[in-house]
Amino acid sequence: MTRRGLLIVNTGNGKGKTTAALGLAFRALGHGLRVCMIQFIKGKWNYGELKAARRFEDLMEIHTLGAGFTWESENLGRDTRIAREAWDFAKQTIAQARHDLIILDELTYLIAYGMIDEAEVVGVLKARPKAIHVVVTGRNASPGLIEAADLATDMQSVKHPFDDGLEAQRGIEY
Ligand code: ATP
Ligand code: MG
Repeated sequence: MTRRGLLIVNTGNGKGKTTAALGLAFRALGHGLRVCMIQFIKGKWNYGELKAARRFEDLMEIHTLGAGFTWESENLGRDTRIAREAWDFAKQTIAQARHDLIILDELTYLIAYGMIDEAEVVGVLKARPKAIHVVVTGRNASPGLIEAADLATDMQSVKHPFDDGLEAQRGIEY
């Protein structure tokens, strides 16, 4: 069977966009597929997956790029430059076709905040090597991205422990 790479979008306000992508990574790794995750927003909470990825040695890599997002106008130029560099890295990674599954974690924010053009993102994703599966995560996925996707899931929040003032739990949030 010739593989047809899928474009998958996990969006919405509920929890689970990044964790669902990591669940797919786990499934793919089980088949010996090579996985690359690029995190566009530098989070404080990604230690768990970074540690776990090392256990898969050459099959899985995670690159934490991008700024922490400050939203102060004086830093916006800097954040935009860092975001563009991260996107350039993603483009190169896709073109190299060294992976079977590429996760572009929180990429939607770069489009939502006008740091990169939706048309460019969609163009690059559509023109990717045919066999590569790509997962894009993040809130507020733009219509063009959804249109281009083969699979899009909207995570809806029903309840979240933060609403009850519960602090982030190790292994669940990070
Ligand atoms: P996760 O990485 O846990 O799968 P996510 O990728 O769906 O979460 P993001 O939009 O990337 O969510 O935001 C990450 C942070 O926002 C996480 O700490 C997550 O728990 C929190 N979060 C997600 N949904 C909600 C919600 N409905 N209310 C409050 N916080 C939320
Ligand atoms: Mg996320």
